[in-house]
Amino acid sequence: MQTHVLKFDDATIAEAAGLILAGQCVAVPTETVYGLAADATNGEAVARIYEAKGRPSFNPLIVHVPDLAAAREIGEFGEEAEALATRYWPGPLTLVVPLREAAQIASIATAGLPTIGLRVPAHPAMQALLRAAGRPLAAPSANASGAISPTRAKHVLKSLGGRVPLIIDGGPTERGIESTIVAATGGPLRLLRAGPIQVDALASEGGKIEAPGQLASHYAPSKPLRLNASSAEPDEFWIGFGDLAGDATLSADGDLTEAAARLFDVLHQADDAAQSRIAVAPVPETGLGAAINDRLRRAAAPRS
Ligand code: AMP
Ligand code: MG
Repeated sequence: MQTHVLKFDDATIAEAAGLILAGQCVAVPTETVYGLAADATNGEAVARIYEAKGRPSFNPLIVHVPDLAAAREIGEFGEEAEALATRYWPGPLTLVVPLREAAQIASIATAGLPTIGLRVPAHPAMQALLRAAGRPLAAPSANASGAISPTRAKHVLKSLGGRVPLIIDGGPTERGIESTIVAATGGPLRLLRAGPIQVDALASEGGKIEAPGQLASHYAPSKPLRLNASSAEPDEFWIGFGDLAGDATLSADGDLTEAAARLFDVLHQADDAAQSRIAVAPVPETGLGAAINDRLRRAAAPRS
């Protein structure tokens, strides 16, 4: 894949929005670091973020929206979340709130969780892309897995060149560190990640904040799960892949991008099924298969 680096202007945003609507990822500056953005309503597009970054595991991604009104359509904002959003958005604050059932967010973007991390970024390039694409954008930092977060277009090019079609060059980012993350999911507010906005400032707006907070960061089914199952027992819901059709399939074509996009939906389906256990057909360890298998192995591990 050829990677174009284009200066932030109207023509670049129009091209970037076209790529986003076609299910591709685009690197875009925000006020924190450069993000690798994809349509959060398109599971395969979000899977391509993981493919490009070579990330070995799925974790919930921050979903970016143009304003608080758009955020309210996706997440449920209580009084405290409203107060923080009103005070700090647009800006480097991510709020984790309950996900609305009707929101059209792909389950891979939240890693199957019933909560969602939302942010309204201030950077004009990200704002312009959000408005031009008209979709919420999932965007982790635009670097290969394990590398440091990029604060310039050339950092992104060095890390992801050949793996993404477009990098929007908006110059160096202002903050250079990732957003502060606060969970407002009921009970006291919890600081999940320190960042540019300080807890003291947050506390004076939103009230009490517990720091650092813990929040389940991965969905796992409640039933025992067996891996590499080439057949299933009568009491097992069988998740298929490729030629092994199962009761539901990750991808009948053996397509790993589709399998990643469907993973959490199928796990939820298996959890809701009548069978008391889950079996999963073998998934190859190549490319996105590594992240899929990582998630499946964690789901199969005995709970502590
Ligand atoms: P990033 O890689 O910068 O997109 O940051 C993603 C981080 O945001 C995750 O590792 C979580 O710590 C946090 N996060 C995002 N969404 C959620 C969520 N729904 N529940 C809990 N934590 C979340
Ligand atoms: Mg990162």
